Amino acid sequence: MSDTRKSNERQWLIPEEGREHLAGVFKKLPGKVTLDVFTDGDEQNVYNDYAIRFAEELALLAENIEARTHTLDSEEAKRFDVTIGPGTLLNADDYSIRFTGAPLGEEARGFIEAIMLVSAGKGAVTPAFEKALEKLTEERTIRVFSSPGCPYCPGQVVNAVRAAIAKPELVRAEAINSDEFPELSQKYGVGSVPHTNINDTFDSIGLMPEERFVLELVTLQSAEELTREAGGTQDARDDYRVEKVDLVIVGAGPAGLTAGIYAERSGLKSVVLDKSVAGGQVAVTPTVENYPGFKNVGGMNLVEVLTAHTRQYSNVREHEGIEEIKIGKNIEVYTAKTVFLANALIFATGSQWRELGVEGEDTYFGKGVSHCASCDGYMFKGKKIIIVGGGNTAATDALHLKNLGVDVTLVHRRDELRAEQQLQDALKRDDVPIIWDTVVEEIKGKDGVVTGAVLKNVKSGETEELALDGVFVAVGHVANSELAAQIGVNLNSDGTIAVDRSMRTNIPRIYAAGDVTGGIRQIVTAVGEGATAALSAFEDLQSPRWKK
Ligand code: NAP
Repeated sequence: MSDTRKSNERQWLIPEEGREHLAGVFKKLPGKVTLDVFTDGDEQNVYNDYAIRFAEELALLAENIEARTHTLDSEEAKRFDVTIGPGTLLNADDYSIRFTGAPLGEEARGFIEAIMLVSAGKGAVTPAFEKALEKLTEERTIRVFSSPGCPYCPGQVVNAVRAAIAKPELVRAEAINSDEFPELSQKYGVGSVPHTNINDTFDSIGLMPEERFVLELVTLQSAEELTREAGGTQDARDDYRVEKVDLVIVGAGPAGLTAGIYAERSGLKSVVLDKSVAGGQVAVTPTVENYPGFKNVGGMNLVEVLTAHTRQYSNVREHEGIEEIKIGKNIEVYTAKTVFLANALIFATGSQWRELGVEGEDTYFGKGVSHCASCDGYMFKGKKIIIVGGGNTAATDALHLKNLGVDVTLVHRRDELRAEQQLQDALKRDDVPIIWDTVVEEIKGKDGVVTGAVLKNVKSGETEELALDGVFVAVGHVANSELAAQIGVNLNSDGTIAVDRSMRTNIPRIYAAGDVTGGIRQIVTAVGEGATAALSAFEDLQSPRWKK
């Protein structure tokens, strides 16, 4: 075992700005964290090199972090049963928490969050989480498969790590880089990330709210199944925390985040709530073209800058989905743990992927069918896929997949694309084949994975079956407007929220902004609408127009 701290003179992996930020964050680490990195000793393996250097750099940035390296044939590897590398254990003497693979891209975020949780130990476990886990009496091994481009993955890794800290005697947590270990991913049938497997028997796809994760961890049953069995009963709301704010903003995409900035600057106390992670659709857009100031910028990079900016003013709360809204003297907004008493509310709930609605789409979702090229693209390197759609998303995703080394063909229902000319030129330049005038009729599969699709030429009526490993669907979006509709907000015929030029809805003190209102649906228009909605809320609360 050797202490790997070396001199400060090094070629850093972590950029300077990131180092400064982490050094500040790590100053507050309450307890020691030991990172044991295991590799097969192959110095030519870039993943080994990355895993060791990343751990070393984190150790150089924090007094409380120590990094040690070992080989897979060492005593330590035997002791902790580490057989594949690179892999990193966190405080291996206290917990069973391991990262299998080099924590690249978004995975690095999960890794850093895990360090913070391990450092805090039991302090990282909320009383509610601990209480929910009380019912767990059997051992659990949680495997969370993730990928470097998946912004939802770190949240699910955090869920697993937190459970391993809360119940170290029963829970083992492992985060696996699915891109680096394709055989392992294949063994567990991973086609979309985050993919969680518990005890080799229970699988789920996607990032879950903490409560749902614990429920499924304890019962090894899906939350839907349990709700059905319980007849849809809901817990009493006696132990809710009450928070008073001026403005609740629902959704932390570009519109909601901008609304948070403008609300606070006007003097409105605001909270921005998101059922998932901040960023909305932008977080999974590989490259954003022509957001003013950037000719092109990574979607996640833009989200990071925007979220950090908003956090300087407003309270951005991720993984806090809305369960119910009641309108009275106050607007009451219920999440799983809190009721916010507000004077105004902005729906910035965005939109979700539209489905094709063909046979096989649901059955093979996460098993070859995907909507997220930046999350799942890595798994299709060298494989043959089609991407369905003719808009900017389909074109951007096709270019991203091609760049990753995926054998990608675009399938579009008409004979011209809706995508911007610049993207069309890029598709030509990169030799992305396009099948015109064609729709998908059925997605076929065998042994639980996609094997092909039946395509139909809409002009000739001819059908053919194409052998495929995956089908990416990019056929536009539908507005997330159900919550708004439930409280009586008027919708347009396409399901988007009807607003006036000031982003006011038909209900006083309720506004909407961004993709949920339809229209141009660009980031730049979403931020404009977010600012307008916040300023309208301010104006109305100062001088209520509905009382005039
Ligand atoms: P979109 O522009 O609405 O395009 C959806 C595409 O899917 C269209 O080509 C449509 O065909 C096709 N389609 C719809 N339903 C279908 C079905 N059932 N079967 C087959 N094809 C179907 O959606 P989007 O591409 O997701 O873009 C949404 C918004 O985000 C746009 O405003 C776009 O500009 C923006 N965006 C911007 C960037 C950027 O970097 N600037 C990147 C991504 C997205 P038709 O053409 O025949 O209608």
